[in-house]
Formats: sequence, structure tokens, C-alpha cells
Amino acid sequence: GQKVVLITGCSSGIGLRIAVMLAEDEKQRYHVIATMRDLKRKDNLVKAAGDLYGKTVFVAELDVCSDESVKQCVDSIKDRHIDILISNAGIGLVGPVESIPMDEMNNVFETNFYGSVRLIKEVMPDMKNRRAGRIIVISSVMGLQGVAFNEVYAASKFALEGFCEGLAAQLLSFNVILSMLEPGPVHTEFELKMIQGMKEKEWPSVDPDTVNYFRNFYLPGAVDMFEILGQTPDHIAKRTMSMIEASNPYFHNLTSPLYSPILALKYGDETGHLSLQAFYCMLFTLRPLMNVGMPVLKCLTFGFVRKWRISPN
Ligand code: NAD
Repeated sequence: GQKVVLITGCSSGIGLRIAVMLAEDEKQRYHVIATMRDLKRKDNLVKAAGDLYGKTVFVAELDVCSDESVKQCVDSIKDRHIDILISNAGIGLVGPVESIPMDEMNNVFETNFYGSVRLIKEVMPDMKNRRAGRIIVISSVMGLQGVAFNEVYAASKFALEGFCEGLAAQLLSFNVILSMLEPGPVHTEFELKMIQGMKEKEWPSVDPDTVNYFRNFYLPGAVDMFEILGQTPDHIAKRTMSMIEASNPYFHNLTSPLYSPILALKYGDETGHLSLQAFYCMLFTLRPLMNVGMPVLKCLTFGFVRKWRISPN
């Protein structure tokens, strides 16, 4: 029969694409429950799903920040039976730490970290009982490598990585496979708006040097990164699909080969000195050279990855 897939955060971006792609499966192998916090925002999904809406893809309300909402949604599913859980809902946070109210930081953790924990906690016991299930958590490359001016976001994804790394080992003995997907920059409708907003924002409580580094070094670098490395939600959805179809998916799944060398620095030098220096140079020294350097680096990296990487799955 069909596999029941529950996905969070499906009103836009990556979640929406994963939901539609699974629904479009030619063999109709998936019964997709595309959840979102606010059902008033279902139009984009419904439009993208076309005829498949009500056939292979259905919407349901789920706010990852609410115990009741998560429980209600799972209870509403026949026998609470979920074969594949995809924890995707998340929010970003960029800017100098000094300027961010603690409430906002809490909200990021409440959504990105506790949101996934809450969801997994609700669904996992049934999977353990059935000795079957798949959990895919949409983390980020920033869950493995901290990035300046994204400290709190990265921390929330690091927390998620740590939580899941522990859990994944336990779950293996119940035949439940938990894996992480770590995208780099992904083009979604909000990214340019966010960067534009940041350019115009005033930072009265932050010292001028920090504002200068943020505005004139970090932000143009972030724009470059999105332009050169940005992947589409479609790309991320395809990758998710291949993780679902793999008989034995890996725990970490980076979507952009450019990040492999960055992580190699990190794991190759336990003192952290190499990666810290590399990131310092990228932000302050190499920034002006990036426009020329990045495409070259990308070509080299693609060559490197093609040659050495053992194909996943
Ligand atoms: P997005 O903003 O389009 O999607 C995030 C979705 O989560 C939205 O639909 C939003 O409404 C939903 N959401 C937020 N709070 C929620 C809550 N409390 N309950 C339920 N849903 C909630 O952005 P996206 O890029 O598609 O993000 C999806 C995931 O991918 C996130 O976890 C994000 O951290 C991760 N990610 C994104 C990028 C990127 O560059 N866009 C890179 C790496 C990882």
C-alpha cells in the first residue's frame, strides 16, 4: 500500500516542493500529509499540487511550537500510522547578536530545535512499536559549521544535530532510520526580501565597526553565496526523495558539494584553528576576491567531489 508521509512547514519553500514531488510520484507510492501552521496559507500548495490535491496530497494544520497542535494532528491520522516523518519547519535569524532580543532567540530555538523534538517525540513511539519508520530532519550546513552573524540560527541547528545524532543510534535497534539533510543556501521567496531588509535596517544599539562588518562584508558575501551556490527547493526535494528511496540512507546528507572541503578542514583539524582562520579570511580578506575566486573554487571542488566521492545509496 501507500506510505504515509507527514511533512511540516508546507505553505512555502522546501516543504511545499517535497510535498508536491512526493505526491507526483508516478506509481503513487505516497499518501502525503502536507502540514502547515496556518491553513489560510494553503493556496500555493493547492495550486502547485493541481489535480493531485485530495488524491495523493492532503493538508492539515500543525504548529510545531504547540504540544496540542502536534498531538491533534497526529491523532487525526488513521491509527496514528506515519511511515515517513519529514521535519522541515524552521525559521532563520541573521544579524549582530547584540541587536537580537532574547525573545527572538528563544523563538528560533522553540521552532527549529524544540519544534522538531516535539514532533519526533510524538511520532517516534509508534514507529518504535511497529519496528519500522523513517525520519528525515531538514537541518542546514549551519548545523555543522557556525557562520558569522548567523550564530543563533546555527546554534539551533547544532542542537538539532546533537539531539538526532544520539537518537539515530538508539533508533537503529528499532529499525527506525533517522537522517539529516544539510542544505547550503536555497532560493526561497524570502531570501532576497530578507537581505534587502537587512541592508536598510538601522542598528542603533550596535557599535559602528560591527555594523560596518555586517553591512559591507557579511551581506555582500551572503548575496554572492546565494548567487553562486544557491540551490532550488526542487533540488532539495529530489535529494529528499532519493533519501526516502535508498534502502540504507546516510546520516548526514549535504546537498552542495562545495561544503565538503569546509567540513574536511573542520574534521581534519581537531583544534579548530584551520576552519576558524579559513572563515576569518573568507569574511575579511577574501571577500573582495570572491567574485573571481568562487567560480574557480566551485569547478575545482566539483572535480574533486566527482573523483573521490563514493556515490551515496
Ligand atoms: P520557508 O520560510 O519557505 O519555509 C519554512 C516553513 O516553515 C514556512 O512555510 C513557515 O511557515 C513554516 N513554519 C515556521 N514556523 C512554523 C511553526 N511554528 N509551525 C509550522 N510551520 C512553521 O523557508 P525554507 O527555506 O523552505 O525552510 C525550510 C527548512 O529548510 C528550514 O528548516 C530551514 O532552516 C532549512 N534550510 C533553509 C535554507 C535556505 O537557504 N532557505 C538552507 C538550509 C536549511
